[in-house]
Amino acid sequence: MTLDGWYATFDFDEREKDFVMDCALFVDQNAKFVYDFFGIESNRREKPTIHIIPTKDEFDRIYKKICNKEASYNVPSWVIGFASGDIYYLSINDYKNTSHAFSPDKKKEAVCYYKKTLVHEFVHIVHEQFNKEHGCCNRSKWLSEGVAVYLSGQHGVLNNDNDFNYAKEEAFGQQGNHYMAYGLLFRYLTENYPKAFVFSLFESAQNASESFKEELYGKAKKYYNSVAKEKK
Ligand SMILES: [Zn+2]
Repeated sequence: MTLDGWYATFDFDEREKDFVMDCALFVDQNAKFVYDFFGIESNRREKPTIHIIPTKDEFDRIYKKICNKEASYNVPSWVIGFASGDIYYLSINDYKNTSHAFSPDKKKEAVCYYKKTLVHEFVHIVHEQFNKEHGCCNRSKWLSEGVAVYLSGQHGVLNNDNDFNYAKEEAFGQQGNHYMAYGLLFRYLTENYPKAFVFSLFESAQNASESFKEELYGKAKKYYNSVAKEKK
């Protein structure tokens, strides 16, 4: 069945209705903040559909098809959502078959994480809309995942209790999955540099020079490690 939210349409199994309504409310509550960050208007006529996929098996099949992976490709067990025009997102009812499995006493935290991850995927959609409107083409992982982690408030990235123990190659590399590092780098960037400069980095990878990345990395590392030390 479908549910027509203000910023997204949900497509899901009827048995999940109450939970999905709760998620839809959460997306609607956070979407304006995301659009405001990017300084663009939501286009309700082209709002994305969020497909809630009942099982990890089915999710993996869809992932491989849409992301052009070989049939033999093994989708990692932590991958539970992706954005590609629409959002495809695994139902929390099948988290048991992923690396996000949780025990019943941790359900509240799991639900909170689930909703934030949904907003993370939504940020990718809005970022893509921003890229189109502004002719931007920088798809560096630290920037696109960083803005999604930051704006969705994932992984406690808005707290000051994170050590920053990432090598520079991890923080800026395209290969790893150092989401916390990307989120913390982006947080430092957006809270300490002018917005126009942040947007210029979105524009083209060339605007993020090696010397700038060196500077950002050094400053962010120093900042987070000093704050984390103070707290201990
Ligand atoms: Zn992402």
